Amino acid sequence: MNVASEIIRCANFAAIKHKDQRRKDAEKTPYINHPIGVANILTEEAGVTDVHVIQAALLHDTVEDTDTTFEELEEHFGLEVTGLVREVTDDKSLPSAVRKQEQINHAPHASPKAKLVKLADKLYNLRDLNRQAPRGWTDERVHEYFIWASKVVAGLRGTNAVMENQLDILFRDRNVTHGTV
Ligand code: NDP
Ligand code: ZN
Repeated sequence: MNVASEIIRCANFAAIKHKDQRRKDAEKTPYINHPIGVANILTEEAGVTDVHVIQAALLHDTVEDTDTTFEELEEHFGLEVTGLVREVTDDKSLPSAVRKQEQINHAPHASPKAKLVKLADKLYNLRDLNRQAPRGWTDERVHEYFIWASKVVAGLRGTNAVMENQLDILFRDRNVTHGTV
């Protein structure tokens, strides 16, 4: 199968799976904007050309946020893409505070390809928070999210200079220094 087809199949699969979901911003942006935007950061900003990484970016929240299973991903997209999605998927059976700590603990041990997806995901979400805070979020909650994200990113460093520089600019703007150089 050709590369364009491999990528569009993922975008289509994610669009169908996320079709009833919205982002947490006040405008209730369609959720699919997020995985497409994460993939776009990788191709347009980070210079990533690895098709499996781009496919994993498009699919990265399907298991965490929809009824999609890893078996389903494996059947449609194969072992490597599914393995990358598995690496960036939180264990939803854990309480959210534990999940957040697990992300900090696991980040340094992720594969280089999974680290690329995680960096782009964090960059997208932090830009989204700067654009418009989600409904009900206080400034303090947004700030705490930046601090947590900086701790995850600390474990992802040495992977992609463009994205890490962009993240550092966002952290510095908020005087969040953890893990920045
Ligand atoms: P959430 O995990 O609830 O939400 C952040 C996640 O939502 C992002 O990682 C992103 O994940 C997704 N998302 C959807 N829309 C947006 C958007 N517009 N902008 C950015 N991200 C978006 O947030 P927290 O991590 O803050 O909350 C989890 C913990 O915080 C819980 O333990 C909760 O109890 C606690 N909490 C803290 C409060 C505080 O004031 N500090 C108040 C209430 C709760 P994805 O990439 O998967 O889409
Ligand atoms: Zn995401």
